[in-house]
Amino acid sequence: MTYHPILEWIEQQQDKMLANVLALSNLNSGSANVAGIEQVVDRLSDLASSLGATEERISLAPRSEVLDNGQILEKQSGPLLRLTKRPNANRRILLVGHSDTVYPVDHAFQTCRHLDDNTVNGPGVADMKGGLVVMLTALQALERSRFAENIGWQIIINPDEEIGSFASAPYLDEAARAADVGMIFEPALADGTLAGARKGSGNFSLIARGKAAHAGREHHLGRNAIAALARAMTLLDGLNGQHEGVTINLAKLTGGGPNNVVPDFALCRFNIRVPTPEGQSWAEEQLAQIVARIGTEEGITLELHGAFGRQPKVMDKAHEQLFALLRSCGADLGLPPIEAKATGGCCDGNNLAAAGLANIDTLGVRGGAIHSTDEFLLVDSLSERAKLTALLLMKLAAGEANWPDRATSVSE
Ligand SMILES: [Zn+2]
Repeated sequence: MTYHPILEWIEQQQDKMLANVLALSNLNSGSANVAGIEQVVDRLSDLASSLGATEERISLAPRSEVLDNGQILEKQSGPLLRLTKRPNANRRILLVGHSDTVYPVDHAFQTCRHLDDNTVNGPGVADMKGGLVVMLTALQALERSRFAENIGWQIIINPDEEIGSFASAPYLDEAARAADVGMIFEPALADGTLAGARKGSGNFSLIARGKAAHAGREHHLGRNAIAALARAMTLLDGLNGQHEGVTINLAKLTGGGPNNVVPDFALCRFNIRVPTPEGQSWAEEQLAQIVARIGTEEGITLELHGAFGRQPKVMDKAHEQLFALLRSCGADLGLPPIEAKATGGCCDGNNLAAAGLANIDTLGVRGGAIHSTDEFLLVDSLSERAKLTALLLMKLAAGEANWPDRATSVSE
């Protein structure tokens, strides 16, 4: 087939790909480690230099974090890397990855080791330093092909995916609206299964404030923040099972103090997952009602922080078209049939879908046990997955494949 010499070139890159993954993974880039993320971005920029794209490093607006004592703290993220090639092309592809990992700089898990010839255990080898190398190699392959001139592309590598992409979300949204197809390099499952539909997710902190008083002498003058918050939490937990696929997880509770004081402060954190935009509206409405009900009790105020940072990603027609095309690429390469499975987890694929961009978000390596010290990469999947993405890119660029329609229901 026409694409054969390029795919063969990718196979020759296998050893180099692995070396690059190990070098990237041995650099700590926990989401809060700004200096570590800068180092990873430097290295990625080197790896991408042969692509001839325009490079920008964008510093993001600070994100606010609600502390356990109710204080709000501004925190800085690392730089976002944006690379753009042929921005005026008629057809454009957006490729997204993240430079951060879930392992903080003081975590015990910092370096890679081989478990056997085909398995490497290491921080971020699958999620997603392996995926970043797959992405860059596939683009290098595209740029070596004669089809490259037909399309434009943009890479966004954000530093805050593992903490919800709040600071990078506006850049993802802007890029998604200007592109025709989205590709994200989160890991596939070990057997090559991809993520299909994804639930939306919101993280919230609910703060209750009451009035302190002596528990013995003037109990009647106090307003108990813990009791009020507990009433709100009971109502929140009661939403489980009331709307198909919507789940509420009460995750953390803090507040109160000595036994002889009516507590005037309590805080709880919770997560809501929703399968559809309609489910999200329902959850938002219920949440507002609960806050209004308990927050108007005499002497009690409730403060709600947080939002749905990830909208649900629904498998609509455009996504089906794109998956069908990827399946045909897999078949051309002799891979086992590529399955897609719905998941309650979310990623930047949710953000791109919310901006109307059909995307496949697990084009990275095959691997598993991510977010744990058992995280692993299956080494032979590096060139395998780079070939898969390169073929997808080349078929789209060659006009051999139909481009998916843009989704019609775009959230504003
Ligand atoms: Zn990831």
